[in-house]
Amino acid sequence: MAIERTFSIIKPDAVAKNNIGAIYNRFETAGLKIIASKMVHLSKEQAEGFYAEHSERPFFGALVAFMTSGPIMVQALEGENAVLAHRDILGATNPADAAPGTIRADFAESIDENAAHGSDSVASAEREVAYFFSTEELCPRTR
Ligand code: ADP
Ligand code: MG
Repeated sequence: MAIERTFSIIKPDAVAKNNIGAIYNRFETAGLKIIASKMVHLSKEQAEGFYAEHSERPFFGALVAFMTSGPIMVQALEGENAVLAHRDILGATNPADAAPGTIRADFAESIDENAAHGSDSVASAEREVAYFFSTEELCPRTR
């Protein structure tokens, strides 16, 4: 299996509810290693750029308002099949549809405020990691 990198956001709702550590625990339990991490408060421009693929969707304005409503944690994660492994523990976009035991089932209230983000492909992960982290900020694990 391939060692991949993926990108994660703990969104403003989950940060506000003090669930950072609980969600980090899910990553580590799943064998995903945090290789970069920081807290940021997005500007409108940063949120619009990150979610540019959704700019024509009806929920775009609400999504940007939510993502700029408070600080977030951004992470680069590394592990075997990291992109899919992370999407599996994240759960479906709508927490009402998310499998029991997933991050969104356990920590999210609604599709608008769904606790966390995960890259949907290796290509998205590369773009998203680079959107927030320089090469120097990434600390690949050797053990
Ligand atoms: P995911 O985050 O699971 O990859 P998408 O990429 O489709 O989902 O959407 C990005 C984010 O936009 C979602 O996590 C959610 O916060 C928001 N979103 C998606 N669809 C809707 C919707 N129908 N109504 C409100 N917000 C939505
Ligand atoms: Mg997505």
